Amino acid sequence: MAEELQQTNVGLDESPEAVLKVDDLRTSFFVGKSEVKAVDGVSFEVPKGKTLGIVGESGSGKSITALSILNLIEKPGEIKGGSIKYKGEELVNAKISRMRKIRGNEISMIFQEPMTSLNPVYTIGDQLSEVIKIHQKFGPKKQKERAIEMLKLVGIPSPEKRMKQYPYELSGGMRQRVMIAIALACKPELLISDEPTTALDVTIQAQILELIKELQEEIGMSVIMITHDLGVVAETCDYVAVMYAGRVVEYADVYTLFENPKHPYTVGLLNSLP
Ligand code: ADP
Ligand code: MG
Repeated sequence: MAEELQQTNVGLDESPEAVLKVDDLRTSFFVGKSEVKAVDGVSFEVPKGKTLGIVGESGSGKSITALSILNLIEKPGEIKGGSIKYKGEELVNAKISRMRKIRGNEISMIFQEPMTSLNPVYTIGDQLSEVIKIHQKFGPKKQKERAIEMLKLVGIPSPEKRMKQYPYELSGGMRQRVMIAIALACKPELLISDEPTTALDVTIQAQILELIKELQEEIGMSVIMITHDLGVVAETCDYVAVMYAGRVVEYADVYTLFENPKHPYTVGLLNSLP
């Protein structure tokens, strides 16, 4: 059934402006001798300047899909097959040096756990400046100016003061904003947002989503918005891939998804909304 639906849903394949095209992506893990198909033939695309939502319950393969795009799977995971084309360039099995250049420079990712991305022993300013240095080749003065500008852009008050602080001196919401600032410091073509706001309170969550939207409008960035929250989908997404057990069971524009869901799993998801 999943296969049929995948094929009968909106055909975005013809869009010439897709920034990212994922086709029949497969990623497996070996747990002992048995193979866990974490991502089992996933296809979707992200049109330029648009937001693709990936929804699905915990364990459905959303994060592994995101990590596969950036070749960030740690062993024993491995990309088994399929195609991931970024502006026409194949990323599956791309050279490490090429992926390093693409990561951050062109595709940025915001992860689930806030503390994993910020180094506790460096100041906010140093970490942000470092990213800017790597990706924009500015001198030290320009790096600092750009870092302050980025902190302002993500709505952090007194950015000059924050620059000298360490991650532990900031609240969870502020750390998330710093992470977003780092992810956006190089004005990526594509932002992959993997439930970065899950642990935050609702107000901060809404602020951060609004911020991503604003920045998207400003720089024409494309976004993959991974979430298990259909409210977030309705609010931010243009297209949606619904994942279940490693597969895309429904793929549609956001209106069609809410107005005329086809797959029983999607119908169940929508019915579970408060
Ligand atoms: P989601 O992000 O949708 O919650 P994930 O993409 O993290 O789900 O995981 C998808 C599936 O891959 C899950 O069933 C999970 O158990 C499995 N998985 C994730 N990481 C590993 C790993 N390192 N080894 C084995 N299985 C894994
Ligand atoms: Mg996840």
